[in-house]
Amino acid sequence: MGLRKSEDGRPLPIPTPLAAPFFEAAAEGRLLIPHCPRDGWFFYPRSRCPTCLGDDWDWREASGQGEVHAFTVDRVGHDPALAADIPYAVAVVELAEGPRMPARIVGCGVDDVRVGMPVEAHYEDIEGITLVRFAPREN
Ligand SMILES: [Zn+2]
Repeated sequence: MGLRKSEDGRPLPIPTPLAAPFFEAAAEGRLLIPHCPRDGWFFYPRSRCPTCLGDDWDWREASGQGEVHAFTVDRVGHDPALAADIPYAVAVVELAEGPRMPARIVGCGVDDVRVGMPVEAHYEDIEGITLVRFAPREN
């Protein structure tokens, strides 16, 4: 996965051919996650299943539901390009389907983020790419 800069300098992903379906689905508001016929869901997208090394996995649409497994808050601006966003929370979200996925938490203050907090996927379009974020789930 390469990176490019947004007009205001923020890093944005350049999808590889392998990851392109993930980003194309995100642009439609859908969360597409790799699924192995033997081992089930996994993340991140890669050419072979991390458990059995099979290459016969396919993309399946996940619910977009999950919970915060772990998180941290950047209050410093470790990446100067993101200084305008601080403070912001970055979490490892455990999806309802099982895999864990890193993502920014949006839709609440950073001091309201908790481990175990139910969240759901949100999609943010930035200069031709859609990024998957997670926001608190209202039930
Ligand atoms: Zn497998």
